[in-house]
Amino acid sequence: MMTNKLLNPGPVTLTTRVREALLKEDLCHREPEFARLQQTLREQLTRVYASAGQDYTTVLITGSGTAAVEMMVGSLVPSNGSALVVANGVYGERMAEILRAQGKTALLAGSEWISPMNLGKVDEILSAQPGISHVLAVHIETTTGRLNDIGALAEVCRKYNVPILLDAVSSFGAEKIDFTGWNLEACASTANKCLHGVPGIAFVVVRRSALTERVSGATSVYLNLFKHAEEQQRGSTLFTPSVQVCYALAEALRELCEQGGWQARHQRYRILSKRIFAALHGQAVKPLLASDAHSTVLTSYHMPAGYRYDQLHDMLKQAGFVIYAGQGQFSGEIFRIAVMGDLSDSDIDRLISACRQFWDANLSRGGEARQGA
Ligand SMILES: *Cc1c(COP(=O)(O)O)cnc(C)c1O
Repeated sequence: MMTNKLLNPGPVTLTTRVREALLKEDLCHREPEFARLQQTLREQLTRVYASAGQDYTTVLITGSGTAAVEMMVGSLVPSNGSALVVANGVYGERMAEILRAQGKTALLAGSEWISPMNLGKVDEILSAQPGISHVLAVHIETTTGRLNDIGALAEVCRKYNVPILLDAVSSFGAEKIDFTGWNLEACASTANKCLHGVPGIAFVVVRRSALTERVSGATSVYLNLFKHAEEQQRGSTLFTPSVQVCYALAEALRELCEQGGWQARHQRYRILSKRIFAALHGQAVKPLLASDAHSTVLTSYHMPAGYRYDQLHDMLKQAGFVIYAGQGQFSGEIFRIAVMGDLSDSDIDRLISACRQFWDANLSRGGEARQGA
């Protein structure tokens, strides 16, 4: 089957074996077969990172990545509590929005979207405000593709003994996550980004002790981490899960394991990202961030002066590739290329030559597109 290759940051192009896993037999979620599937998934997910060891467990939720983030933040930050959000993009700011929607206090250590996390501000706020239960951060800020330095953040948080809740939605499975070293109380992610599954299942990897020592701060019936954890530990499920998507995730995790785990996926993404980066550099396209600030998963590029995003997008789509626009203030200014999912070396060759053709065609049309810019 010839499909578009998705270069947007999730959902991703599925491999054939993951797609075919969707066609397995129908299953009632109250039967022992589903209990086994759920148990396997939870164990496999906890084992993706050796650093999670025995101290963490995984709780599944049917929903998109935001459901997992909202369940994590809503349940672990105490009701009427306050947390410090470190934001340098859309997803950090969304966690502050989630806290406020739950009637919790969101203190913000913000920075420009183009900038690294503001660790000086984090230190300042943590030293001035003793009531903060958690620091909330985003691992790969997908707005720009920056890999935030969570190790450095963890050093600041350790001084105040405040644990981190991490949005690892776009990094889990492809970037290093040091659960104990970074003092993560939990991280949230999804099936359909670096794990190469189908959208519909998300999850929280949470320190077991948090589930026994904390009281649920959930203001939502559906997104209550403690309730889901309790049911899932019992081999049951709170509500109806996306059964077929679970089959696909189990297959995607087997594939990840066979390929060499997150480290191998990291290397693969690195190679693909570097090739695209070098080729676009040769085509005079400039990255948004310094090259060492980008994650291996996603890179943002300035739209070259005189060219329009929608034209690039449409032309690449005709060539079989879906790229991603900039959000908010970056709308029309940048384009983003992710390398998740089923991508071959020859896909990247085709992408590079399609980009080359686009710049050349627009130039030879005498700058017609450029006047429109
Ligand atoms: C994709 C993403 C999310 C969640 O997006 P959904 O559309 O809810 O799956 C959250 N945080 C980050 C950093 C992301 O990249």
